[in-house]
Amino acid sequence: MNNLYTSTRNNQVKISAKDAIHQGFSDDGGLYVFPNFDNVSINIEELKNKSYQDIAQLVLRQLLPDFSDEEINECVSAAYDSSFDTDEITPVTDVDNFHILELFHGPTSAFKDVGLQLLPQLMKHSIADKRVMILTATSGDTGKAALEGFKNSDKIAITVFYPHNGVSKVQQLQMASTDGNNTEVAAIEGNFDDAQSNVKKILNDASLKQELGNNISLSSANSINIGRLIPQIVYYFYSYKKLVENNQIHNGAKVNFSVPTGNFGDVLAGYLAKQLGLPVNKFIVASNENNVLTDFFNSGIYDRNRPFFKTVAPSMDIQISSNFERLLYYKSNGDTAYVKQLMDELEANGKYQVSDELLNSIQEDFYCGYSTDKEIKESIQDVYNEQGYLMDPHTAVGYKVMRDYQKIDDSCPTILLSTASPYKFVKVVAEAILDDNHDNDLQLMKDIQVKTGVDIPKNLANVWNLPILHKDVIKKDDMRDYVKSKVEADLYDKN
Ligand SMILES: *Cc1c(COP(=O)(O)O)cnc(C)c1O
Repeated sequence: MNNLYTSTRNNQVKISAKDAIHQGFSDDGGLYVFPNFDNVSINIEELKNKSYQDIAQLVLRQLLPDFSDEEINECVSAAYDSSFDTDEITPVTDVDNFHILELFHGPTSAFKDVGLQLLPQLMKHSIADKRVMILTATSGDTGKAALEGFKNSDKIAITVFYPHNGVSKVQQLQMASTDGNNTEVAAIEGNFDDAQSNVKKILNDASLKQELGNNISLSSANSINIGRLIPQIVYYFYSYKKLVENNQIHNGAKVNFSVPTGNFGDVLAGYLAKQLGLPVNKFIVASNENNVLTDFFNSGIYDRNRPFFKTVAPSMDIQISSNFERLLYYKSNGDTAYVKQLMDELEANGKYQVSDELLNSIQEDFYCGYSTDKEIKESIQDVYNEQGYLMDPHTAVGYKVMRDYQKIDDSCPTILLSTASPYKFVKVVAEAILDDNHDNDLQLMKDIQVKTGVDIPKNLANVWNLPILHKDVIKKDDMRDYVKSKVEADLYDKN
């Protein structure tokens, strides 16, 4: 069957989209993938004058075949409403000779909102009568976006783990102040990769499943869940159609997308858009100093045995880009035994090497580079001084690598994905554009506003005054017990 999902590590797995969303990822450790794009596509000629929500429906109908049109309509309308501060949902702005796709207009001012406003709606239609605890590891932005998306959901609770002292002040306040009767937050003594690998372990823990019983399942709101990834395909089509409507390209012309990358979810969604028919020349994959992917693109060797850097673009401080496994699946033509072998090597030795053929195929679609912290600050400063546009540090990573790529080939227009509001990372933005620096983040926010005239998003202006509701700091080895106790508190008690 063509419209069933399979696992990146076992092509015998065949599962509906709803079950894939409910489970999050496969028991064999693999990720769910839509195996074959031969019979699905989006006709770009038909996008003219369509709203963001219209395009979202088109994309979802292609990739979620077991959802009825009515269900899709309901999910999309509930997700993309007044919780975004613009009707466009993801507006496009022209800067210099490129275009910025602003993905940070949702309720938490991070691009994660685009996926995480829709995922809870999809989840609601996927779980039947079960109760679900959503587990999320976050490097900062996913956590708050997931908490906002899932809070007060019926039959669903959510637990978020973030690295203690590894997120920005604003991010920490955003998470710690979350209300809702079903939200749990813990800082862990470890980094993001620790949080993510322990969440994966817990999701795979058969004995825990038994202890929790049949009526309760665990799932994930990270981009390993296809219900989080598929919504992100939409803005690639939306931005393309905006350029066509503005007469900046003709329908069918190829464009580049520059994508600040951590877990490889955002850029993989772009690759799926290309599989659905979007004319793309290159995806420019932009990393910070945790540049595992840049080395891979040059050598074919993925090696995570290296120092871990805390950078000024912390949401991308990641050494294991989970969704890269999905690209390996597609680029090896669905050779799940091969993908499993590579992933086993990664687990055992922290590295693997792919065949030349596979590397070449990846290089056809992707260019990869990185930005140092110093270059991030210079980019923020240059673009602000010369173009009057204020970027956050993650967007600045994408900007720098885009400029590197344009030196090699500038034949196609480029769309730079902007992944967060600059007000989420005020320290580095202040260092880049203000003369006067200090340690008071709230004051810095105001100083930046005075200097630039860029509005502070409401949720970020208000976060300083909210009560702190979540204070737990736990050891990374205690995550399993924490989850168990929270399932008991949030899901068993409310029968
Ligand atoms: C999560 C995040 C990224 C990286 O996105 P991936 O899908 O993990 O590659 C980039 N920028 C910001 C601000 C983020 O929150």
